Amino acid sequence: MSNQTNTTRTDDNWFFGHPKGLVTLFFTEMWERMSYYGMRALLVLYMTGAVTGFNPGLGWSQLEAQAIYGIYVGMVYFMVIPGGWLADNLLGHQKAVMLGAIIIMLGHFTLAIPIDQTFFLGLTLVVLGTGLLKGNISTIVGQLYKPGDVRRDAGYTIFYMSINIGSFLGFLICSWLGEKIGWHWGFGAAGIGMFFGVLQYFYFRRLLGSAGEKPNDMPEATRVKYLKWSRVSVVILAAVVALGLFGFINVDARLFAENFAVFLTVVGFSYFAYLFLFAGLDTGEKKNLFLLLILFIAAAAFWSGFDQSAGSLSIFARDYTDLSVGGYIIPIGWLQFANPFFVVVFAPIFAGIWTYLGRINLNPSYPLKFAIGLGFMALSFIVMIFAVQLAMEIAAPIGMQWLIITYLIQTWGELALSPVGLSAFSKYAPKNYVGQMFGLWFLASAIGGVLAGLLGGEALDKGLESISPVFEFMIQYYVVIAIALVVIAALGIAKSSDPAEKS
Ligand code: GLN
Repeated sequence: MSNQTNTTRTDDNWFFGHPKGLVTLFFTEMWERMSYYGMRALLVLYMTGAVTGFNPGLGWSQLEAQAIYGIYVGMVYFMVIPGGWLADNLLGHQKAVMLGAIIIMLGHFTLAIPIDQTFFLGLTLVVLGTGLLKGNISTIVGQLYKPGDVRRDAGYTIFYMSINIGSFLGFLICSWLGEKIGWHWGFGAAGIGMFFGVLQYFYFRRLLGSAGEKPNDMPEATRVKYLKWSRVSVVILAAVVALGLFGFINVDARLFAENFAVFLTVVGFSYFAYLFLFAGLDTGEKKNLFLLLILFIAAAAFWSGFDQSAGSLSIFARDYTDLSVGGYIIPIGWLQFANPFFVVVFAPIFAGIWTYLGRINLNPSYPLKFAIGLGFMALSFIVMIFAVQLAMEIAAPIGMQWLIITYLIQTWGELALSPVGLSAFSKYAPKNYVGQMFGLWFLASAIGGVLAGLLGGEALDKGLESISPVFEFMIQYYVVIAIALVVIAALGIAKSSDPAEKS
């Protein structure tokens, strides 16, 4: 039989019509996200939990704990940039993923040690490992396909499924163990999940072939120089972490988070400016970059609400929601099931809608899709404002349907924005900058994560009373940005220069 027939299974179409290597990436990402979301769901609960009684927590205030949560999420996604640089220039993406997975696993195992002193060391390791893994694995997905291969978007959709199957498993296992048995058991389970990911990647990495295998070509002298810089940076980083761990550096978490948010924003805008001015881009590439800048801003705003699932909304679930199902009190983290569950249910429906609209030539432009995403995010917080009102009125825990509906609406927003953004950043990145553009895409998540911690802390600072003003403020900025996006779309300002695509 000839290789041309669609029914022939080759390495290039082996996995649901996709390259074999996608299987390896699918399961690695699944276990990585299982560990990330599973642990993250416990983090704020652990930090704010009472210091006495069954399963003692750290007893920290909402403001402090959520600021630390925000810094953690921000760092995780910020580190994607140096991780991408290391992979592009020195390690190659494949090796970076391997190394990252091992460091993440060690981080979770460190958190599993039942003493408080190793807490920040564990978090630091997860941050550094994720920096090496998350962006680079997303880059390899794109590299499995030749330029112009129409299957790339679908490849990212399949990859997005693995993310959500992973987070589902994480909530299921880590939340149950962490909340019902002991926090450190939950952290340990995250480490074991990542261990499966490491094993799987180790054995099946060869399926990736040459995708993401080698770093960029460069003169030997440059490589030696880069290597030296990297070593010096690692030593400085280790010294700072050590000083912090031994109590020589004392930081106010909230102040740090505020400055970190500003820093990340400056880094993002400076990088866009650098690319505009100094990367030698042609007019078409500059146009695409402008489109990505608009999406970047909208995405940062979006994640500032989305990432409150493991922050303010988790505390709302703990303190103001009735979690009993048929007499059994479910773990707080189980409510977060709603997100991955609805992603898996609705992803094909959204993909179908975009395809259908594309066929009748009405496929919304990227800014419009992002406006839809923000619109849903605003709506989800309107639902929460009603939930808060009800909880205040009845002065008793309210039904869990409120949070489930909130997550459902947020998931619709996510589906209009997140997979779409991932593919836009891979498609419209200037040539030679794809790895770094993923860094920028995740930088939007970093900014959103820090804001989520800051806003979430403020929302829960004075219990129920302080929630609505914060959520109202968020709704306002969602609506303003969404309207700006609609105007931009209507005026056709941020249009990609790809003739085959509507921007
Ligand atoms: N849910 C997606 C993931 O975990 C997107 C997260 C993000 O970019 N903030 O990969």
